[in-house]
Parts: sequence; structure tokens; C-alpha cells
Amino acid sequence: MADCLFCKIIAGEIPSTKVYEDELVFAFRDIAPQAPTHILVIPKAHISGCNGVTPDNSAVVAHIFEVIPQIAAAEGLTGGYRVVSNCGDDAGQTVHHLHFHILGGKKLTLEMA
Ligand code: 5GP
Ligand code: ZN
Repeated sequence: MADCLFCKIIAGEIPSTKVYEDELVFAFRDIAPQAPTHILVIPKAHISGCNGVTPDNSAVVAHIFEVIPQIAAAEGLTGGYRVVSNCGDDAGQTVHHLHFHILGGKKLTLEMA
């Protein structure tokens, strides 16, 4: 998608700090971390968000959830971590390319609810 910030990050048009990449998935550090470790995991194929997941593209979501524990282990998040996806305006989704936040590195509260 030409106008999508995260598609531009995948393409390398906007710099990011990559932590993981394979043929389907890209992961990088959030520019405004909300926890000591704050990583965004995204599909390389543009999907608008949770509501854009269909039977045709949902396999990448399963793959993302296989990759997330690998990233968490590489980051040393042995005590646990949180995975969040904000879906739509009421949840505060600001970038309309499906992404999963990995948050960790401290005892997390439930204040985001
Ligand atoms: P959302 O609010 O849509 O759930 O999450 C979007 C996330 O993208 C936010 O946590 C925000 O800090 C992050 N973000 C926005 N622009 C950039 C950027 O240019 N680079 C990186 N690395 N993260 C970004
Ligand atoms: Zn995109």
C-alpha cells in the first residue's frame, strides 16, 4: 500500500530498528516505547487491521504467533510479556496495517483497559 507507514518500513523507505524478519513477517522496535521492551510484529502483506483478517490471509496471523515467542525469548522476556493489537478508533489504532505490540521488561499493569 503506497500510503501505509508500515509498508514503507518493510520496504526500508522509512528506517526502523529491525529485530526479526522472515518471508512473511517483519518486527521492529516501537518508536515511542511504552515498556522497556516494546516491539511491533507485522505481516509483510498489507492487512488493514484485525477487521481485515480473512480466510485468505489468516495463516500469517498464526505464523506471527509462532514468531512472537521466539522474539520474546531472544529479548530475554523470561518473566512474561503482553501481546496487544488495537483494532479500530475506540481502541486507539493509529496505523492501519495489522500489528501486534509485544510489551515486556517490567511488571505490567492493566491500566490500558
Ligand atoms: P497503534 O496505536 O496503531 O496500536 O500502534 C502504532 C504504533 O506505531 C505506536 O505504538 C507508535 O509509537 C508506533 N509508530 C508510529 N510511527 C512509527 C515509526 O515511524 N516507527 C516506529 N518504529 N514506530 C512507529
Ligand atoms: Zn501497510
